Amino acid sequence: MYADRINALPPYLFATIDEAKAEMRSKGVDVIDLGVGDPDQPTPSHIVESMCEAVRDPATHSYPSYTGMIEFREAAAQWCKDTKGIDIDPASEALTMIGSKEGVAHLPLAFLNPGDVALVPDPAYPVYQIGTQFAGGVPHIMPLLEENDFLPDLDGIPADVLNKTKLMFLNYPNNPTSATAPLKFFEEVVDFARENEIVVIHDNAYSDMVYDGYQSPSFLSVDGAMDVGIELYSLSKTYNMTGWRIAFAVGNRDIISGFGKVKSNIDSGAFDAVQRAGITALSSSQQCVTDMNKIYADRRDVLLKGLSSMGIDVKPPKATFYIWAPIPDNYDSIGFSRLLLEKAGIVATPGVGFGDSGEGYIRFALTQTVDRINEAVGRMEELII
Ligand SMILES: *Cc1c(COP(=O)(O)O)cnc(C)c1O
Repeated sequence: MYADRINALPPYLFATIDEAKAEMRSKGVDVIDLGVGDPDQPTPSHIVESMCEAVRDPATHSYPSYTGMIEFREAAAQWCKDTKGIDIDPASEALTMIGSKEGVAHLPLAFLNPGDVALVPDPAYPVYQIGTQFAGGVPHIMPLLEENDFLPDLDGIPADVLNKTKLMFLNYPNNPTSATAPLKFFEEVVDFARENEIVVIHDNAYSDMVYDGYQSPSFLSVDGAMDVGIELYSLSKTYNMTGWRIAFAVGNRDIISGFGKVKSNIDSGAFDAVQRAGITALSSSQQCVTDMNKIYADRRDVLLKGLSSMGIDVKPPKATFYIWAPIPDNYDSIGFSRLLLEKAGIVATPGVGFGDSGEGYIRFALTQTVDRINEAVGRMEELII
């Protein structure tokens, strides 16, 4: 019944975890869910109010423009200027997306012919690989190893692969490892992409979820990056707006234009009312972002202290709401996550769910209150010590 591209999909580990979680809940277990990367706090009220107003205006009820409202793209460009120091022409170098997942899934259709290669990090957000495969492309895995600070080894990619490579996905601050990339790495990527004529897609979903004064550099702030790549920014994590489906792509105008050609034939754009709320998010005071980051930093510190007391030491991440923790030697990541769920009622994501190089790790999302994280730490201590 199904097409080969569906039959070729890897088993969806996250669905299995959801089932196990539901089963524990049905047994009456008080499950603490540190699994899903979905903010637990509501969207800030000024953004919600803006949406309410917009949805009452019949002008928002028609088909949106497939490139996105120019006002939204202007707000996005101004936000890029203010927070990242990059200059974007809203008319030709920006595109509204229905969430960045939509962009990641559709971009390969614009750049890959069957058999062309896309460079895909591992561990990673699974859609880079699946989007490549759906377009008939061939993913080439770039392992992200702790010994390399979770950056890919560009020199290690074989020449015969590079000959066929058209596209490269990157994501820093990184999900799931929470690693950040220094500007120097982005400079190397620009040279590498120029030399090998590769389109770079930098997924910057965690650009503003940062701690301890760290500021995450934009890939596009590097000289020459606008010639080779685009950056995907999402309002989902930054403004607790995962359900709203709103994001934008900025960067090289030819890449943006190619992406737009795909989008104009698949979707009909993001709801104008959501884009108006997005304008509010991007153009208002960014205090709500600072406040959320303070909340995540406190949670991070509680979990790291707890893990450390169990002999699991993790360097405090400077960004993202994930803790990427090594697991005890006598377990694999699925076995360890099963142990946490069945014996302690804690959901965490096994590293191997993000690719083979994720084996040996487990990912905790900081999406529960300090009290609940403390409770989780207590349960783990009983289990492990
Ligand atoms: C959450 C996430 C996304 C999806 O963001 P949306 O804008 O909600 O589609 C994309 N990339 C990474 C790495 C993510 O973690």
